[in-house]
Amino acid sequence: MLYFEVPAGDEVGTSFDFLQETAGEQCKNRSAFWGLSTLQYTKVEVLMKISELLHDDKVSLSLEVFPPKTTTAIESVTRSVKEIAALKPDFMSVTYGAGGGTSEHTVRIAKDIKATYGVPSMAHLTCVSSTKETVDGQLRLMQDAGIENVLALRGDIPTDGDFPLPNQFHYAVELVRHIKEVAPELCIGGACYPEGHPEAVSKAEDIRHMKEKVDAGCEFLTTQMFFDNSIFYNYMYRLREAGILVPIIAGIMPITRKNQVERSIQLSGSCVPARFKSIVDWFGDDPAKMKQAGIAYATDQIIDLIANGISHIHVYTMNDPEVAAGIMNNLSEIIK
Ligand code: FAD
Repeated sequence: MLYFEVPAGDEVGTSFDFLQETAGEQCKNRSAFWGLSTLQYTKVEVLMKISELLHDDKVSLSLEVFPPKTTTAIESVTRSVKEIAALKPDFMSVTYGAGGGTSEHTVRIAKDIKATYGVPSMAHLTCVSSTKETVDGQLRLMQDAGIENVLALRGDIPTDGDFPLPNQFHYAVELVRHIKEVAPELCIGGACYPEGHPEAVSKAEDIRHMKEKVDAGCEFLTTQMFFDNSIFYNYMYRLREAGILVPIIAGIMPITRKNQVERSIQLSGSCVPARFKSIVDWFGDDPAKMKQAGIAYATDQIIDLIANGISHIHVYTMNDPEVAAGIMNNLSEIIK
């Protein structure tokens, strides 16, 4: 929970306006926040569990950031996070050791997002290269920082070193079970792959493992990036058919630089539709045009998803406030 203090005796409307400005959309229609009158102040709680945000079919849009790679990049990441948080997404997530970012900053940034900017946040956590002690240390940091949401991941298998570490985690499902045991108050999400995880023997096998993850306690799943919505619709059908009924958040990566294409596809194994290839071929050598075209393509994907009943969208911002703002401005009427 995050508490905001507003003057007691204030007209409800005034305080409500203040809250909406401060904490954003998540305050909307939450009359339960009004309570706990004190002598001088009325304390107002903002519900921060992502499972609650995803509870209804109201469209939600969340944004992902990654921590700095080196200490010198801290300032630039801090600035980006502040500007992205100012857009008041429904929540923000912070990766753990991915995208070049180091893990030590994940919880700190997630705490800032929530406590300083009033936006619900989620910290990612991977387990494959960590000992149980490291994982428990991160969970304790989250608890101390008041983080309420965690994306429980295996992480990529390291190319150097041993896998798995003896007596440690092999798969995300084990991390989910562990979190349920040691930090049961956390709302847990997991990752899923519309085109199948690159290591999976088959899509059917991958979905079977996904069901285990949900049965173990994942309350929602966020997808890997995809560029062809029909692949996602097909995947949704297969998830529901397999009895996976938790909310699915569609992960959208705006490709705004030519050199992002190869790397993103290599990492995710996503198919690139011909329409998208033409955009990169045509605009790729002009950064400003490529940025605009990439934002437009991602916006188009999101509008199609929403028009087909997919309510929850997560945008991989790559720490670029312009990209995040471009998408949110394009959708301003649709997501309000
Ligand atoms: P798992 O769910 O464990 O699945 C990994 C593979 O193992 C799959 O092929 C699955 O089918 C298989 N499997 C699962 N359970 C079993 C079992 N019991 N027996 C046999 N096979 C099994 N990486 C980072 O380093 N940091 C991040 O912050 C980060 N954030 C991400 C956010 C999202 C939304 C996504 C989609 C990915 C993210 N990743 C991140 C990448 C992720 O760590 C990799 O994709 C990783 O290879 C798999 O992680 P997972 O949690 O999906 O693993």
